[in-house]
Parts: sequence; structure tokens; C-alpha cells
Amino acid sequence: MTDVIIIGSGPAGLTAAIYARRAGFSTLVIEKAPMSGGQIMNTFEVDNYPGLQGIGGFEMGMKFREHAETMEAVFVEGLVEEIRVAGDVREVITQNETFCAKAVIIAAGASVATLGVPGEDTLRGRGISYCATCDGAFFRNKVTAVIGGGDVAVEDAIYLSRFCSKVYVIHRRDKLRAADMLQQKLFSLENVEMVWDSQVERISGSQQVESIHVVNRKSGAETDLEVAGVFIAVGIRPLSGAFTALVHTDEDGYIVADEDCRTNVPGIFVAGDIRTKKLRQVVTAVADGANAVAGVEEYFLQLV
Ligand code: NAP
Repeated sequence: MTDVIIIGSGPAGLTAAIYARRAGFSTLVIEKAPMSGGQIMNTFEVDNYPGLQGIGGFEMGMKFREHAETMEAVFVEGLVEEIRVAGDVREVITQNETFCAKAVIIAAGASVATLGVPGEDTLRGRGISYCATCDGAFFRNKVTAVIGGGDVAVEDAIYLSRFCSKVYVIHRRDKLRAADMLQQKLFSLENVEMVWDSQVERISGSQQVESIHVVNRKSGAETDLEVAGVFIAVGIRPLSGAFTALVHTDEDGYIVADEDCRTNVPGIFVAGDIRTKKLRQVVTAVADGANAVAGVEEYFLQLV
């Protein structure tokens, strides 16, 4: 029996692990793959974390992890399928094992959303990618397209512009959602072309991506753009499927909780991108990790 089980090893989960160990709790972190680390591990650069401006995402993720390891949090690999409540015991069931704890912090994060257009499934990994920092280098001196208008799309386009001959940014509206500083940087790049008010309706190619069919939503004009790579950055989806039978979620699947990170089930807390919140950033994820442990401390006081 562990004091606290943390599901997920992104910034929220690792911060929770650090705080839980500082509070003297035995702490088990269940991660879906060794050194999983969450979305931060695929982020090229983090420019808005106080004191660490411009740090690489992977480096930041590794620093968080080393800190949690130094605090002697225990890590195990496992895909959580369900959490059950048995009196004061919280059972976390993975494919191979059941782990028991007094409290659980769900910090399983989110994953990238798909576009859902013809060609996306067949050409995935053959020119279609959801991670510019992972796959961008394959497109050196080639023409690529980024789809989306959020922080990730703009960061991806900036990153790709460093080695692609040209980068189209295709956005369904005439205004980006991304942070203003990112937008200014994007607009200053000579090899980036904005394609406003437009939706990609088809991705084509026989073996590899060759072109995308783009429709202007205002004029109805249709264009085929020749591209070798398509980077899809149209948002994220919470990885909450294993928990929806137990805790309340909103209509998009995010686990309902405020800044206190308490779910509707006593002893089950939630931290990071997987919970309902306005601002999904590293800085808010780590804040959740700390707040969730504060909640656990209060909960333990009620148990005795
Ligand atoms: P996001 O902010 O939700 O943006 C998704 C973008 O994709 C939006 O521009 C949206 O268009 C567009 N989109 C959604 N569905 C689409 C569809 N079916 N077809 C075409 N376009 C579609 O997602 P994100 O950029 O992945 O970021 C996820 C979260 O991480 C955000 O909260 C973001 O702020 C955060 N983040 C922060 C940082 C940072 O602070 N440095 C870096 C990366 C990510 P509309 O604008 O029209 O809705």
C-alpha cells in the first residue's frame, strides 16, 4: 500500500511526485512508457517558464524527472485501465498489475487531436506528422504545411522554417489563437506563407504526401498545394478514457476540478492538462501538481 499513486510523468505528475515526497509520502509514479515525460518532451523550446527562458522541452522534462528521482519517487511502467474505490483504498488497475494507495493523483495529460480528413490515416508517418520537433528534420529543404492556429502550430512553423524551404500555415480563421509574441516571430519569417480562412479537406500522395487540397471558407476557392510534409497541430484531447467511469468529466472529456485539483471522488485528485482549466501550460501544470498534493495532505488528515 502506497500513500500516493501518481498517474503520468509529465510536468504535473513529476511536480506532484516532488511535493508528495517532500511531504513524506511514499510515492509511486505510473507512466505509460519508460521516461514518458508527456508533451513537454516533444516541445522544441519553452519560452514562458519563469527563470528558464528558451529552455529545450526535452531538457526541461529531464530536469523535472531528475528532481523527482532525487526525491526517491518510485517509477513503474504501466497503462492504467481503471481506478476502483474500496473503502479508503484506491485501486489503480493496469494491464498487468493492481496497485493500492490511500490517494491517487491523475496527471495523465493529453495527446494530439487528429484532423479527420481523407488521407490522414493512410499517410500518417509517410509525410504526416503530429510532432515537428520529432520529424521536422526529415523535411530539410522541402515544402511543408502546418495546420492550426494555436501555440503549437505557430511554434512548429517557426521551428520548421529553420530548415524547410517553405512553410505554409493553414488556419481556418483570419486570426491566430497563438500568443502574440509567437505571432510576431512567425510573421517576420520570409519562408512562411499564411493561408487564412482555409480548411484542408484532403491529403494526397501515392507512397508519401504529395499535396493537400485546401478550400477557402470565405470565397469557396479551392487550391492544391504541393507539399512533402504536413504537420497537424489542431489541439489536444485529454487522455481520460480510463477514468470517466469514476470521475466527472466535461463534454470534451476533461476531468472536472478547480485550482484545488479535487475531483468529485474523495481521495482522487487531478493535475495538469487533463483537468478542466483555462490555461494549459507548463507553469499551470506544475502548479496543479503542488496543489493536488496539498489536497492530498488535507484528505489524509480527514482519514485519521
Ligand atoms: P489550441 O490552442 O487548442 O489550438 C488549436 C488550433 O487548431 C486552433 O487554432 C484551432 O482553430 C485549430 N483547429 C482545431 N480544430 C481544427 C480543425 N478541425 N481544423 C482546422 N483547425 C482546427 O491547441 P494547441 O496549439 O495544440 O495547444 C494546446 C494547449 O497547449 C493550449 O492550451 C496552448 O496554449 C498550450 N501550449 C502552450 C505553449 C506555451 O505556452 N509556450 C506551447 C504549446 C502549447 P481556432 O483557433 O479557429 O479554434
